[in-house]
Amino acid sequence: MITVREWKERLNEGKAYDAVAELIERAKRNRYNSFITVTEEIALKQAEEYDRGNREGKLAGIPVAVKDNISTEGVRTTCASRMLENYIPPFDAHVVERLKQEGAIIIGKTNMDEFGMGTTTETSYFGVVKNPKDEERVAGGSSGGSASAIAGNETVLALGTDTGGSIRCPSSFTGVYGLKPTYGLVSRYGLVAYANSLEQIGPMASAIDDLGLLLEVIAGKDERDSTNAGKSFHYSPVEKKFRIGVIKEMRADERVMEVFDEFTRSISKFAEVEEVSLPSLSYALPAYYVIAMSEASSNLARYDGVRYGHSLESLDSWTNYFSRVRKEGFGKEVKRRIMMGSYALSAGYFGKYYLKALKVRTLVVQDFMRAFERFDLLISPTMPSTAFRIGELADPVTMYMADINTTPINLAGLPALSMPAGEVNGLPVGVQVIGNHFEENKILGFGRMVERNEV
Ligand code: GLN
Repeated sequence: MITVREWKERLNEGKAYDAVAELIERAKRNRYNSFITVTEEIALKQAEEYDRGNREGKLAGIPVAVKDNISTEGVRTTCASRMLENYIPPFDAHVVERLKQEGAIIIGKTNMDEFGMGTTTETSYFGVVKNPKDEERVAGGSSGGSASAIAGNETVLALGTDTGGSIRCPSSFTGVYGLKPTYGLVSRYGLVAYANSLEQIGPMASAIDDLGLLLEVIAGKDERDSTNAGKSFHYSPVEKKFRIGVIKEMRADERVMEVFDEFTRSISKFAEVEEVSLPSLSYALPAYYVIAMSEASSNLARYDGVRYGHSLESLDSWTNYFSRVRKEGFGKEVKRRIMMGSYALSAGYFGKYYLKALKVRTLVVQDFMRAFERFDLLISPTMPSTAFRIGELADPVTMYMADINTTPINLAGLPALSMPAGEVNGLPVGVQVIGNHFEENKILGFGRMVERNEV
């Protein structure tokens, strides 16, 4: 993995063009299937600009890979779906505008679960992403391509998105750092929606400082996203004797727990650590899936093959046209979610499922708020296991269960980091660090203390 500091040293030693060309070559070979599109021409042109002395901006000369559900003007944005296989957005997402303004070199669009729906990147129309730590295993999902591009030295930084764990899960499985920001900190303008009330775009990298740097660039006011909080983010990590709560309900398998318990013991050197119980968490996972699927069924109604997306040559009748477009354009998991979401929202079942899930959501928020009266930060294992073998998760419910520790965070709109904390049989284990709303600097400060202490 390449940190920003290491990359800058390389830029000082030679030409940006050569350094970027080397990365692009690796990305194009696509050993792990991290990329759906490599933007070779654009990236090399930007590198040339840098060599010519155009070096303004916080990310000048630094390669960033962008998840393929984030709109890039003139560059195909597929959401890893056949539905959008040839869709070229006419505009940039807010975060992409910000990357460009700060001189970043965008090297490509990364592979993901179709529309972000998955935990392993196996639902991608463009094939599964392989974990650079073990190529027979998944890199996690849904931002699997962003994580494998970092872990496989194909980029320095990456953007992911997180609706129920999609930044943190692949970070945990590949041994990289990923941060899901507070809901509303980063504009979602130009992000293709899966479940609006849950998702955020966030930074992925190989060091804490790099997350801070990238978050500083992408966060901030944007009136085009009505849920944007209008706050900017200045990276100034807080370091102190933190009060840390270990969440009792967030567990993992035995081997992962051994690594996690060892982590907990070692941070006691510089933090006060105590267990805390959040009883409503036992209902959080089903509530998340009801809400996420309901929002998805509404969001994905727009793909009718008329305005954009997959379309057909022949037209027998309108009704047949729509159903054929959707039958061909969407994969199995996406269809399953549209059907279940429509069911949960339908008259007669709305109160029983959707409304009930919203009530659970309120309880989850209250539990977290109560915990933050006593603690600065909360921790847990990010994932209940290490990376799965490709094809290992045979049924959807088993896959959903893997999101048990990550989804409650999205229900509550909180910021959370996944950082590497050890290994089981050569496979990385991530620890999740959760903060109160807009307390990213505490999370990152704690992360730095951990990094330094080599916990
Ligand atoms: N695995 C979760 C889901 O499938 C989360 C995905 C995400 O965060 N985009 O909904």
